[in-house]
Amino acid sequence: MCIFCKIVEGEIHSNKVLENDDFLAFHDINPSAPIHVLVIPKKHVENFHSVDGQTMAKMTPFIQEVAEKLGIDKSGYRVVTNNGKDGGQEVFHLHFHILGGGKLKWHHYHDDPTKAI
Ligand code: 5GP
Ligand code: ZN
Repeated sequence: MCIFCKIVEGEIHSNKVLENDDFLAFHDINPSAPIHVLVIPKKHVENFHSVDGQTMAKMTPFIQEVAEKLGIDKSGYRVVTNNGKDGGQEVFHLHFHILGGGKLKWHHYHDDPTKAI
């Protein structure tokens, strides 16, 4: 069972923000912003490229509700998903990062900027 499936099952503790039958939101263990929350489907899906549109259609209002609960819906926030190796995905259970709580930097970079992508 993957690490996020273990969080869903309660085998690994998480600091929960919101949940319903299909999704769970919890604080990232290693935050990259003043507010850094992960949103996952409870069923195991490897990443964005393997998720179906129906799941995404339900996930969108859930993410919006999480942002409202965190009080960042008006100030603004960023939603990011890392897909696959080059996308920087480390946990292969679909998750959206919700980042906010302060003005976020915006810089895309390549590990070796001298090489063409
Ligand atoms: P990725 O790099 O796959 O997009 O992001 C994985 C995220 O999961 C990272 O931001 C990392 O800090 C977070 N993470 C990894 N293991 C755990 C854990 O056991 N608990 C929590 N709350 N977050 C985790
Ligand atoms: Zn999983």
